[in-house]
Amino acid sequence: MIVTPLMPALFVGHGNPMNAILETAYVTAWREAVASIPRPRAILCISAHWETDGTVITAMTAPKTIHDFYGFPEELYQVGYPAPGSPELAERVRSLVTSTAVRLDTGDSWGLDHGAWSVLRRMYPSADIPVVQLSLDRTQPPRFHFDLGAKLAALRSEGILIVGSGNIVHNLRLLQWDAREPYPWATEFDQMAAELIMAGEHDRLVEYATLGEAARLSIPTSEHYLPLLYVLALQQPDEPVSFFAEGVPLGSISMRSVRIG
Ligand code: ZN
Repeated sequence: MIVTPLMPALFVGHGNPMNAILETAYVTAWREAVASIPRPRAILCISAHWETDGTVITAMTAPKTIHDFYGFPEELYQVGYPAPGSPELAERVRSLVTSTAVRLDTGDSWGLDHGAWSVLRRMYPSADIPVVQLSLDRTQPPRFHFDLGAKLAALRSEGILIVGSGNIVHNLRLLQWDAREPYPWATEFDQMAAELIMAGEHDRLVEYATLGEAARLSIPTSEHYLPLLYVLALQQPDEPVSFFAEGVPLGSISMRSVRIG
């Protein structure tokens, strides 16, 4: 194994919350992805499911498990992910991000949403690695999120695993539970994004609104796409990028997952 001083960074396509309890090919891929990287000291998660006015970071010692979805089996609501928080990491993130004010959430208003725990309980089922969540400032444009991601790079040499959790293609309005094939535009944008990621064309991915009709249908709202930008921004010159999961289930959800490093 090649020893790298930098912790890889991951973007995970989380998709259906049921991946938290069903054995799927995606779950297998998530497990395998972390089996090959060093055990992190802590995890910083940027989830599609935490949008705020301004940038907020969880800084409580024991974040609660949030079941932020409706109409799923009772079993899913019983799942807890009791990983500790890390006020120390929260403070470290605040010190790195000087471009905007980062508010520490030490109370009970957030915790770990399913964008974080549905993935992390598969990667680290023991829930013994501290997890901190960084919110998406809903008032800011894509470029802001990319630039904020780049500010987090130092964490990678401090044993911190940065995980973005969302979906490159995410159109719930057009989602079909019984879909046998993806919509053509979903496949088209998933492929386009894959090519741009491999080519390091980050500016074009930030400016996704200029990428045409397939992008417009794939990203009707930005929150599932933005976590990808945080992770891409961490790629250093000549650093490898690869995909550890892919597929477009439910017609309009891309599970494509990206590893930097
Ligand atoms: Zn989601």
